[in-house]
Amino acid sequence: MAAFKIKKKRLKELIDSLTKEYRVFIPVESDGVSSFKEVTSDSHLPTINSHNTDRPPKEIFFPQTETLFTYKEGKISPPEQPNTKYRTPNTDKIAIFGASPCDVKSFSLLDRLFGMERNVAKCSGYKDAYWINRRTNALIFTIGCNYPLSTCFCNWLNGGPFTKEGSDLLLTDIGEDFLVEPCSQNGEEFIKTKGLPIQKAAKVDIKRASTVRKEAESTLSEPVDITSLKEGLDTLWDNPVWNEIAYKCLSCAACSYLCPTCYCFDIQDERAGNARGKRIRVWDSCMFSLFTKEASGHNPRPSSKERMRQRIMHKFNYFVENLGDFGCVGCGRCIRSCPVNMDIREVINTIKNVKLTISNEK
Ligand code: SF4
Ligand code: SF4
Repeated sequence: MAAFKIKKKRLKELIDSLTKEYRVFIPVESDGVSSFKEVTSDSHLPTINSHNTDRPPKEIFFPQTETLFTYKEGKISPPEQPNTKYRTPNTDKIAIFGASPCDVKSFSLLDRLFGMERNVAKCSGYKDAYWINRRTNALIFTIGCNYPLSTCFCNWLNGGPFTKEGSDLLLTDIGEDFLVEPCSQNGEEFIKTKGLPIQKAAKVDIKRASTVRKEAESTLSEPVDITSLKEGLDTLWDNPVWNEIAYKCLSCAACSYLCPTCYCFDIQDERAGNARGKRIRVWDSCMFSLFTKEASGHNPRPSSKERMRQRIMHKFNYFVENLGDFGCVGCGRCIRSCPVNMDIREVINTIKNVKLTISNEK
């Protein structure tokens, strides 16, 4: 596909033109926390660089709390004020500008789970209207990572700092300009039809982008081969290694709340009076002890050992089994956020070593 470029100083024009048709979300830092916030044409535009934000953009499509419907005396109706933070009637179109490649890959993984049928190898069969309504017609502008963080390991997981999976347009920071590459039909259409302040890239721009990419890729640590991790985990359910891995975990769930691929949720009714109220969906986490506590008081995952095993099994075994890929994109947020320095890369290596030891003993 042809490559284009846009001057950084003209990004505001591009974002303004997007806001005429889309609700536009960009990475913004506020009170020391970076996350994606909606901008309008009169918003001040912060500098947008490649960004692995503190909070992933999954909450744009899958809000932390959302009203599914309200009920009154036996009748149900759509929420009167659909989620105030991410109000999204079906007709709203969403554009995300400046997501990192790993976060964008996470959208493709969650598409499989929530039933968006686009370029998927496997699909859960379940269709989540709330996710699908927001994802349909969404336009994703990814900015590749010129400077991966020391906690990034996307390259272990079929990804990389400039991977295109899930993107409509991939931007590469080449100095005064961004190189812009359409990666989908929607991306191509957007470039063709919107009269943007964009021009064809010259050979020198493409060469510069290639150098930037090579430099970024070279800063990542050597990838660990995890192709047989799923099979390894098949045999480790009862292994005492889970005690060793989980002993310091506090079950705080920071890792799963900030994970772009974690999607556990709870459904709750909030009563507002006699026979009226609303049903809401809220994020939940398999790292909480209440997550699996039954009404009888029995809990099949009573300690952090069982909960950690579940988290790892889900990402590297069940996800592969059910949806055809690992349920981790290597963004490193769980490493950055864990108060006791749990490092999922070390967990993976520990599991690999245990499996190797067992194989050698046979
Ligand atoms: S498990 Fe950790 S590294 Fe993997 S996607 Fe989730 S937060 Fe990122
Ligand atoms: S962030 Fe760390 S301590 Fe908290 S639940 Fe996750 S692994 Fe455990």
